[in-house]
Amino acid sequence: MQTKPRLQKLIRELKSHRLDALLVTHMPNVRYLTGFTGSAGVLLAGERPAFFTDGRYGEQARDEINGARVMVAKGSAALAALRHAAEKGYKRLGIEAEHVTVSQQKALARELGGGVRLIASSGVVESLRAVKDDDEIARIREAVNLASRCFRPLLRALRPGISENAVASRLEFEARKAGAQAMSFETIIAGGARSALPHGVASAARLPERGFVVMDYGVILGGYCSDMTRTVHMGAVPPQSRALYGAVLEAQLAAIARVRPGVSAGEVDAAARKTLQRSRMAKYFTHSTGHGVGLEIHENPRIAAGQQTALEPGMVITIEPGIYIPGRCGIRIEDMVLVTENGCEVLTPVSKELIEI
Ligand code: ZN
Ligand code: ZN
Repeated sequence: MQTKPRLQKLIRELKSHRLDALLVTHMPNVRYLTGFTGSAGVLLAGERPAFFTDGRYGEQARDEINGARVMVAKGSAALAALRHAAEKGYKRLGIEAEHVTVSQQKALARELGGGVRLIASSGVVESLRAVKDDDEIARIREAVNLASRCFRPLLRALRPGISENAVASRLEFEARKAGAQAMSFETIIAGGARSALPHGVASAARLPERGFVVMDYGVILGGYCSDMTRTVHMGAVPPQSRALYGAVLEAQLAAIARVRPGVSAGEVDAAARKTLQRSRMAKYFTHSTGHGVGLEIHENPRIAAGQQTALEPGMVITIEPGIYIPGRCGIRIEDMVLVTENGCEVLTPVSKELIEI
């Protein structure tokens, strides 16, 4: 993975945040900047970047990291990084406010010396991560394609009376067999009235003879996440249900049609919401339209009402409007979408026509 240019870009940008260095402790950020895939380590990103880890990860770090000096700390890696910052004469040291607990911050503050000040900063690395480079886009495509290949076997598992858990386990077995490292979040299989729960994680409930089933899942491959939702119908679809499905699909397509560089995330959200207003369904659309996806399942930008962030080529986002009628049914359709120079490309190749099981 070519991580060196990412780290150098971050270091160039530190000045505009009025920081001499940034103490990177959030592991997905560490991975993004160094390629380190282990689970413990701290990156001190400054003029001369250094990575601190403990004895368990020394060899792996030297193997994976280029662009930062690897140091094996005896005690806490974060405190070793702090001492190093003092030695280097960094005065304004950024910490990742969203990812440092109060007690960790206190522990750091106790060790402060050499005129180093901790500056709470937020989203510095995350905003770089919002725009994917070619290597990341290639990995995301592979994750999306792997998950999509599991959709047919998933459909074959569906029948009235089978538990949502059994369906999820079949899907997850297929995904692992196809090479997935893990699922990117807890698989959602929500049948019948449970489909009205926007976050209906698979349960012991059994699929009904008739009704919608919302299936939302993703895999991790090469460190990158995928995320997709399809809603299918058990048994013949009554006209009213078909109309509801059509309304959600129309909203999803309208939002996708709005995705292009320069358009704000809020405008994409509004496109989905406005379309659902026309069918008087907007009040049942109770979450935001989408989110960025990458090393983590939820990243910037958030595709939500009022979000000013302008879309840029290389962003990878989901478009996933849904409606949830309490006690009755829910429908969600989700694709992953790459923002391109002059519009967007839908990455998820799975058909969105309503399937009857
Ligand atoms: Zn999803
Ligand atoms: Zn999603």
